Amino acid sequence: MDSDEFRMWSRRVADWGVDYRESLRERPVRARTKPGDIARQIADSAPEAGEPMEVIFADFERIVPDGLTHWQHPRFFAYFPANAAPASVVADYLVTAIAAQCMLWQTSPAATEMETRVVDWLRQALGLPVGFAGVIQDSASTATLAAVLVMRERALKWAGNREGLSAHPAVRVYASEQVHTSVDRAIWISGIGADNLVRIPTKGPLHGMDPEALDAAIRADLANGLLPAGVVACTGGTSIGACDPIDRVAEVAHAYGLYLHVDAAWAGSAMICPEFRTLWEGIDGADSIVFNPHKWLGAQFDCSVQFLKHPEEQVRTLAIHPEYLKTHGHDGIINYSEWSVPLGRRFRALKLWFLMRHHGLEGLRTMIRNHVAWSVELAGRLAAEPDFEIVTEPVLSLFSFRHRGGEDADRHNLALVQAINDDGRIYLTQTRVAGAIAIRFQAGQFDMTRDDMEVAFATITEVARSLK
Ligand code: PLP
Repeated sequence: MDSDEFRMWSRRVADWGVDYRESLRERPVRARTKPGDIARQIADSAPEAGEPMEVIFADFERIVPDGLTHWQHPRFFAYFPANAAPASVVADYLVTAIAAQCMLWQTSPAATEMETRVVDWLRQALGLPVGFAGVIQDSASTATLAAVLVMRERALKWAGNREGLSAHPAVRVYASEQVHTSVDRAIWISGIGADNLVRIPTKGPLHGMDPEALDAAIRADLANGLLPAGVVACTGGTSIGACDPIDRVAEVAHAYGLYLHVDAAWAGSAMICPEFRTLWEGIDGADSIVFNPHKWLGAQFDCSVQFLKHPEEQVRTLAIHPEYLKTHGHDGIINYSEWSVPLGRRFRALKLWFLMRHHGLEGLRTMIRNHVAWSVELAGRLAAEPDFEIVTEPVLSLFSFRHRGGEDADRHNLALVQAINDDGRIYLTQTRVAGAIAIRFQAGQFDMTRDDMEVAFATITEVARSLK
């Protein structure tokens, strides 16, 4: 492809992106595709001879958009959002054009130094004290894995990477049932083993970990010769938004010298609003915190920020220095690949820089406050309907509900989610609360308006009544 063609296609693709965004309200949110529909339209093998871009692009338009679930649809209320504000998309176009691999300072000084700056902007925006340094990871799962590896290494006096775990007492990590499954995976991958992830019961309206039960579990493990290493707490768990009492959990963890990692992958974005910070009161006591600006804040996927009180411990756990990665003459400079599991890294800081500068923190706060207010309002309206019940009250913009109807409540509510998603105006997902199916609702899409919430209310109530 020569420069003229590259220029023409870059412009055409940018135009297509804008048209696509403008078309979203006319599209069903969840893909209507059946398994295999897309694969059938794609050749079995790569062509031997090159094809014109025009042909490839026509196939793209024919096959792909209708085969997508539209995450940027303003009425996406499923899972958690994966927002991509236009300003961050534009930044990512630049990142794609530059195509730098930013593993070391010297492989992309601008990326490294901008990362240090924008992550500190976020630290200030979230109200975290000076002393937390941060790094952008590809996902919260990777950040949590890194944190679990640090807990393990600290507890094993930095011998685990070298010796493995077999010669040591079992390493123990504590978390409630409400943490995301990325914690389970981190425990598997780190070799700690699922049996050594100790589940601490929860209590209270926020379904938070019981600190007394945590204390008792650690004491019991010590008495049995096991090796308590760390606690993974959550602020805004995936299922129903559970929040552990971080201040009390930190007190217990630190009394035993344990490492505390807090997963605020979704709820962390809301902490730019001071009034929501009560949900993670005591966060200063964490050793590591992860939150995903790619969820609620508007930074295009992927963008996960991990704050660390002692980054040198993570570097000690993860850094490795073969000659081919040494940066002679640049000792003491940050090489962010030493803070993370993958070596290669995208230039992720640019989209945060564009996003925060274009919207300003106040613009982003307004968006989050609207989502919370609209979600609370919707929960109230559903609660006032005789055939709906609120199962878990809103935590920020997430709540769960159930429709009363049918003999088998689980089957009825699963059928309702399916029917709502087939309707296409909105997209929801389900969860289990105390063993029973509940329907999750979260408001968080960057472009949604209050009118979209009206459509949500109308769709939920109309479809539920049509099922009877
Ligand atoms: N933690 C929480 C609370 C989540 O909700 C999720 C995903 O939704 C994750 C972690 C995993 O995030 P990631 O996809 O960035 O690994």
